[in-house]
Amino acid sequence: MAEETVNLSEDHSVYKTLLESTKAIPWKIDWNTMQFAYIGPQIEELLGWTQESWISVEDWATRMHPEDQGWVVDFCVSQSRCGLDHEADYRALHKEGHYVWIRDVVHVVRDEQGQVDALIGFMFDISDRKKTENELAALQKKLEEYSFKDGLTGVANRRMFDSAMQENWGHAVRNRHPLSVILLDIDNFKQYNDLHGHLRGDECLKRVGALLESAAKRPRDFVARFGGEEFVIILPETDSESAMKVAERCRSLLHQEQIPHGGSDTGPMVTVSVGVGTLTPTRDDNIHEFLSLVDERLYEAKNRGRNRVVAA
Ligand code: GH3
Ligand code: MG
Ligand code: MG
Repeated sequence: MAEETVNLSEDHSVYKTLLESTKAIPWKIDWNTMQFAYIGPQIEELLGWTQESWISVEDWATRMHPEDQGWVVDFCVSQSRCGLDHEADYRALHKEGHYVWIRDVVHVVRDEQGQVDALIGFMFDISDRKKTENELAALQKKLEEYSFKDGLTGVANRRMFDSAMQENWGHAVRNRHPLSVILLDIDNFKQYNDLHGHLRGDECLKRVGALLESAAKRPRDFVARFGGEEFVIILPETDSESAMKVAERCRSLLHQEQIPHGGSDTGPMVTVSVGVGTLTPTRDDNIHEFLSLVDERLYEAKNRGRNRVVAA
């Protein structure tokens, strides 16, 4: 039994079998010549390039994503020069043209004089982990988007409106610019739901939201769902005359959209009532008072028979 015990330190074939049967890919680079002294045959399965095709560090450096190449090569060379073990994640080029995420773990081997003699390391396939990481990042982005967007209409939600209003208000105060706000409420929307059902009501809200986005054309114009069947538009650096034009554009786009209502006291199609306010705010003004004023105008538009804009 004792004679049959394998002496591992002497039996290279056992090491070789062990190394070449793991998922991780072993390799060795001679520091002086910068040539591969060894690379595991598993490399061909992972990256498509044959074992024999890995000759020098050039082969390693060029078979890398251009975005990773610069920093990975610099990092590994400088760490190795200092004799520091290190690791790097990068995208290795597959022979067929796609990239595979690799983690390369590098150990620096020194000679008796303490000089760097060789680098030995393992390459690990980390593409599954990277995929999960990327999926998580995408999910995170979606979540952020959802928390700012109204789930039904896709325009900004109330929360986003509050912060955008704050920001634009501050900007207007500092720069003494006029700021306009348009508040719109769909006329007789309760009857619309009663006649066509809540789902068709939702569809109508989506169409109105999209249409308002197209009415507010400037890059900093901001459309949000204020709540229920009410929408709001912030128009930065916009005077009352221009705001009035945008409000009328909203009404005329909705008119062109021709969404049949059937139970409205304003006519056969869906209409909106609109309140508009413009202010060049100072530090003495207050956002809530300004929005209440716009809301009063909307209320007045309703009282005067709906399907109209009240600005002052
Ligand atoms: P007015 O012309 O005075 O504004 O009358 P109105 O019927 O539009 O006003 P009211 O406030 O009485 O009704 C608003 C309706 O909007 C009632 C509510 O069911 C509907 N509504 C609010 N949010 C939604 C929604 O997300 N989807 C649908 N389908 N309906 C909604
Ligand atoms: Mg309402
Ligand atoms: Mg309404």
